[in-house]
Amino acid sequence: MAESRNGPMPLAEARARIVAAISPITDTQTLALPEALHRVLAETVTAGVDVPGADNASMDGFGFAAAQAPADGARLRVVGEVLAGHPFPARVGAGECVRIMTGAVVPAGVDTVVMQENTRTEGDDVVIERVPARGDNIRPAGEDLARGEAVLGPGHYLRPADIAVLASVGAHRVAVYRRPRVAFFSTGDELRPIDGPLAPGEIYDSNRHGLAAVLAELGMEGVDLGVVGDSRAALAAAFDRAMTADAVVTSGGVSVGAADFVLDVLADRGSVDFWRVAIKPGKPLAFGTLGDARFFGLPGNPVSTAVTFVQLVRPALVRLAGGTPAAPVRFTLPTRTDLRKKPGREHYLRGCMAFDGAASEVVAVDHQGSGVMRSMSRADCFIVLPADCGDVAAGTPVTVEPMAQPVWGQPAPPIA
Ligand code: AMP
Ligand code: MG
Repeated sequence: MAESRNGPMPLAEARARIVAAISPITDTQTLALPEALHRVLAETVTAGVDVPGADNASMDGFGFAAAQAPADGARLRVVGEVLAGHPFPARVGAGECVRIMTGAVVPAGVDTVVMQENTRTEGDDVVIERVPARGDNIRPAGEDLARGEAVLGPGHYLRPADIAVLASVGAHRVAVYRRPRVAFFSTGDELRPIDGPLAPGEIYDSNRHGLAAVLAELGMEGVDLGVVGDSRAALAAAFDRAMTADAVVTSGGVSVGAADFVLDVLADRGSVDFWRVAIKPGKPLAFGTLGDARFFGLPGNPVSTAVTFVQLVRPALVRLAGGTPAAPVRFTLPTRTDLRKKPGREHYLRGCMAFDGAASEVVAVDHQGSGVMRSMSRADCFIVLPADCGDVAAGTPVTVEPMAQPVWGQPAPPIA
């Protein structure tokens, strides 16, 4: 059971060790493009066509050869109209122009488009009141993507803009990585399903529902193994069911209490890497291996479960899925209130950002207990206080990490 030299492991070290220990899934599947949203691309997609396919007008106006309109007030004969999707069949000659619409292919003999607003029509002629520079208002073929160019590569998490880019080159089917199967369960004799009554001492199993939700949001295939009681035998049976997954996430039973058997059973059936991280909330945490699966034993206090998932499990699952964990977006805001803290662990207080011009600040929610899940639900950010920091006075700038995060980073763009 490896642990840092002097007690709990710094959070950044724990995160780096966990992410480094993950082998990304390499199995792929081919999907129709619309189904590939929020999946991780497993191939290099190369443009089979130029985008756009031909020089085309970027404005509604008139197309002509710049040499034919040497100065403002030039007059040209309008010999036709060119619409998007209907290329002009002839060459535009001396003294001539065509009316042309946005997206229409620029005809032979045309190298410039003037916007309609800078012209005046007189019978069959058009007078160009303000002559644009040669080449203006024409988008060259291949301006966005050239045929043969690499569009996106393996490891790219597909957002709506990526779907549109892939569609623009006609990539109607794409290879993506298989989604990770993540088994999860809660441990605790006190936990009951949320649709029944509670006897004295019992509570509803909220963590499992929170975990199911964050896994769904991350695009994982969750495998819900229910509630497991505080006994070695029950845990052993659950571990055996869980170990065929790609990853296992549990809550509860990782402290040193009389009913905390997760570490024992994990050590027995797999291996434990470490189990104390210098983070508050959430110090006790098991990371290890169970069969082929990576195992994350999160603490049971609901806020601890949620915070350790975000800080330690989520980046690992992104890597498991073939993606690149994004560095969190952080900035500083002054804290509205004094914050109490003992040096030692990195704190993740729950806060709300208040933006009001120069008076922007962050407000810690009023109850920071690790059992007060409402603090997570009400908050829109973490206030991150470094391990070595102590009390913080109101007005001091503090690090703010919004809960809405990019999560999926992008690998370097493919080389064409
Ligand atoms: P443990 O980590 O098992 O010692 O649990 C710490 C605290 O979290 C205890 O108060 C538990 O009752 C509570 N807890 C554990 N698991 C859950 C769960 N699934 N849902 C809600 N609370 C839980
Ligand atoms: Mg427990």
